[in-house]
Amino acid sequence: MITKFIKRILRRDPMVKHTQANNTGAPKRIPKKAHHIDPHLLSKNAVKVTNTLQQAGYEAFIVGGAVRDLALGISPKDFDVATNATPDQVQKLFRKARLIGRRFQIVHVTFFGKGHPEIIEVSTFRALLDKAGDHVAESGQILRDNVWGSQGEDAARRDFTINAMYYNPSSETILDYHGGMADMQKKTLRMIGDPAKRYREDPVRMLRAIRFAAKTGFQLDGATRESIAKLGKLLNDVPSTRLFDEILKLLMSGYSWAAIQGLKEAGLHHGLLPLLDHILDDGEDSKGANHFVKLALANTDQRIQSGKSVSAGFLFATLLWPDLLKNWRANTAKGMTNIPALHDAMDDTIATQSNSVTIQRRFESDMREIWAMQPRFERRVGRYPSRLIESPRFRAGYDFMLLRCATGELNPAVGQWWTDFIAADPAGQDALMISVKSEPSNGSNTTKRRRRRKPKSIMPPESAAS
Ligand code: ATP
Ligand code: MG
Repeated sequence: MITKFIKRILRRDPMVKHTQANNTGAPKRIPKKAHHIDPHLLSKNAVKVTNTLQQAGYEAFIVGGAVRDLALGISPKDFDVATNATPDQVQKLFRKARLIGRRFQIVHVTFFGKGHPEIIEVSTFRALLDKAGDHVAESGQILRDNVWGSQGEDAARRDFTINAMYYNPSSETILDYHGGMADMQKKTLRMIGDPAKRYREDPVRMLRAIRFAAKTGFQLDGATRESIAKLGKLLNDVPSTRLFDEILKLLMSGYSWAAIQGLKEAGLHHGLLPLLDHILDDGEDSKGANHFVKLALANTDQRIQSGKSVSAGFLFATLLWPDLLKNWRANTAKGMTNIPALHDAMDDTIATQSNSVTIQRRFESDMREIWAMQPRFERRVGRYPSRLIESPRFRAGYDFMLLRCATGELNPAVGQWWTDFIAADPAGQDALMISVKSEPSNGSNTTKRRRRRKPKSIMPPESAAS
């Protein structure tokens, strides 16, 4: 889809020259007929914000990723506004406006409509680092950032040229300070300024580079790519919570598999998620895990691209499942009974993960619930199935179980049985339970025979991904 729009722009747009704009000079003005932004893709609330600010005498533009996405013909997932009004001045103009952040003080303007409330993030133009000199650490990292500047300075502080365009909905004009539109036509992701310096200021920009390249299908410009290879280790200094947020964005981008391949090519995957180390290291013994995770990510990408929601807990549960399975099997091999072995394995898996990037607690409890539910899908007689359906997280556990069936880790007949069970009326459900009793003993990993001998102990699946 993105490629289609780029082709369209290239075909119809003789007005934008393939030249690099002067970094410090006046911006290039790109009129409506040269950018083809479809006004229907604009958020009405974002336009309300720019109009209100402009009517109060300030400058105001839609900025950043929203302009990039609009110019690519895709619907932005959120809208940011940049203005020369200070946060206090912004706050006074809107009924539901909240000042947030310390390092980057911004205003969240909230609109309540029919669906979810929409938050428009409004930030004030920021000064260049030289002006904020005493806010920079010895390592080059930015510490505090509330020094206001001109729009040109604000543009120079942004990360990539395609993320530094300002769109004025009233005039339908884009102001392009760094040749973002030309780079877009060349399908190039280029860091503004000296990439090495910019990555040192904020190492997370390396992960952003990979994410945007995956999302747009653009190539990283030479220096933008080469500096990553040299500076990747700086990610170790980034606080774990920020790293987690960025990894989550990467996995939820709708292009997670491409992004993970990008991380691998850039040599950035080590230490971010233990699982990525396994799956990206192409070893023979990681094949099963690779298959499971690839399927899970393809599934996630598909859902996100078709506008469906994905729970982060579910996603991390899938990413860490192969690791968990390995620990679970090791525990049972040591003689632990099955359910305690599973719970012990969960603790181990989560602890190993926390050594690099800590998964937030609320996601962790979702993961645990999804995992703990898995052996219960194999009990398909008596009151067990109806009780399982009543669990609040049943749907997530069920989807997860279907994924295991799709990779062959679990007998697909079990997944089909549950799909039928959910759809059946009480008589149909009884019939399905009777059918389990007559299943051949190799029909699934759970058999009546095994359950009778050891009611609470269903073994970890033998054929599972490892
Ligand atoms: P998306 O929202 O689709 O993930 P985005 O480009 O809008 O992408 P945001 O994190 O919402 O990303 O940031 C908005 C804008 O702020 C960016 O487009 C960029 O101009 C600027 N920005 C964000 N993070 C950084 C950073 N770490 N360094 C420099 N500029 C940044
Ligand atoms: Mg954004």
